[in-house]
Amino acid sequence: MKVLVLNSGSSSVKYRLFEMDRREEVAGGVVERIGEPDGVISERVRRADGSLDTSVRRLPVPSHRAAFALMGEALRSGGGLDDPRRLYAIGHRVVHGGPVFRAPARIDAAVVAAIREVAPLAPLHNPGHLVGIEAALEAAPDVPQVAVFDTAFHQTMPARAYRYAVPEEWYTRYRVRRYGFHGTSHAYVARRAADHLGRSLDGVNLITLHLGNGASAAAVQGGRCVDTSMGLTPLAGLVMGTRSGDLDPAVVFYLGRVAGLEPARVEAALNQESGLKGLCGAHDVREVHRAADAGDPRALLALEVFAYRIRKYVGAYTAVLGRVDAIVFTAGIGENDADLRRRICEGLEGLGITLDEERNRSAAGELSEVHAPQSRVAVLVVRTNEELEIAEQTVACVRG
Ligand code: ADP
Repeated sequence: MKVLVLNSGSSSVKYRLFEMDRREEVAGGVVERIGEPDGVISERVRRADGSLDTSVRRLPVPSHRAAFALMGEALRSGGGLDDPRRLYAIGHRVVHGGPVFRAPARIDAAVVAAIREVAPLAPLHNPGHLVGIEAALEAAPDVPQVAVFDTAFHQTMPARAYRYAVPEEWYTRYRVRRYGFHGTSHAYVARRAADHLGRSLDGVNLITLHLGNGASAAAVQGGRCVDTSMGLTPLAGLVMGTRSGDLDPAVVFYLGRVAGLEPARVEAALNQESGLKGLCGAHDVREVHRAADAGDPRALLALEVFAYRIRKYVGAYTAVLGRVDAIVFTAGIGENDADLRRRICEGLEGLGITLDEERNRSAAGELSEVHAPQSRVAVLVVRTNEELEIAEQTVACVRG
C-alpha cells in the first residue's frame, strides 16, 4: 500500500512515497525553482540494500503541472510506481486550517474552498499548497487526497489558552486568536513518547518541544493539546533561527515612530532577521556553537536567550498541566544538540526534571531516555517524522 505525501509551496514541491506496510520511505525528493528558467529536481531512492541514492537534475520547470510530470517520472523509475492510480492515497501538508479544521480532511471542492478562505491567515503558505493540490487533483483524479493541517492538533486548546485579550471584534470578525503550528510533529512525538512510557496517550501529560529552524512548545494533557507557544502565525513563542518569538507588540509602533519603519518592514525583519540571527548574526545553531566556542560573546548570549525562553515555557506549561510525565525534545536542534538540551534543563530540578549528562550526550536513534534515575519527569529525545505522520493520518482519514 503506497501513500504519497506532498508539501507544495508556490515555487517548490517536496514529495515522499511511503510503503505503508513497512512504514518506510521508498523514494522522495524535491522539485525547486518552479516557474524559473533554472529548475532543479533532487531525487532520493531507496535501493534494495536499504541505502539511499541521491541525484540532482537541472532543467526548466515552467509550472506545477510540469513539476508533477517530473515527479511522476521519478516515482516510476525510482519508487516502482508505474501508475499513479496504484496509489492508495495522497496526503497534502497544509500549514493553516484556521478554526475550521480540527482533523485531516478528504479533499473535495468544499475543502479546497475552505483552505482558500483561511489563506489570509497564512499568505506565504496556503496559496502554494492550493496550487499543489490542484495540480495533484489534475494528475491523479481518481486517487483519494487528504489535507493534513499543521494547526489541527492544537484545535483542542480551551478558549482561555487560544483567546487573546483584544477587542472582541478582532476575534469574531477577523479570527484573531492563537492557532499554533507544527501540530503534526507534536502529535507524532507525543504518541511515540506515550508508547515508550508504556501508557495510553490519553493518560499522559507531556511538554513537547519541537526545536528546528522554526520552534514551538506544546502542553499536551491526556494526548490533547491544551496550549502551545506559536500564535496567530508561527512568529510567536520561542526564539527561532530567524524569528523573534515573543516580544512586546509595542516594539512595532515604537520603531514606526523613532525609525520610520513601515509595519511590513518590521514584519519582514521579525521573521527573517531576528531570532538567533538577530542576536549573533548566524541562524544555524551549529554555526552559533562554533562562534560561541571561539569566544564570541554574542553567540554565547544567543544560546542563553534561546534556552532561557524555552525554560520559561517549560515552567509555564508545568503550571498549566499540574503533573508532567515527560518532556520531549524533537526536530533538528531538539534531536541533535545535547548542549542546548543541557542548558534548557539546567536549574529545573525543582520541577522534578534532572538530566543525565552521559545519556544526554549519547542520545541517538529513534528514541532515547536522557533523564537521571531520580528524575520525577522523564526526558525523552524522539526523532520526529512529520511526513510519515501525514501518511498515517491520510490512511486513517481515507478509511474513515
Ligand atoms: P526545519 O525543518 O525547521 O527547517 P530542522 O528541524 O532541520 O529545521 O532544524 C534545523 C536546526 O537544527 C538548525 O539550527 C541546525 O543547526 C540544527 N541541527 C541539525 N542537525 C544538527 C546537529 N547534528 N547538531 C546540532 N544541531 C543540528
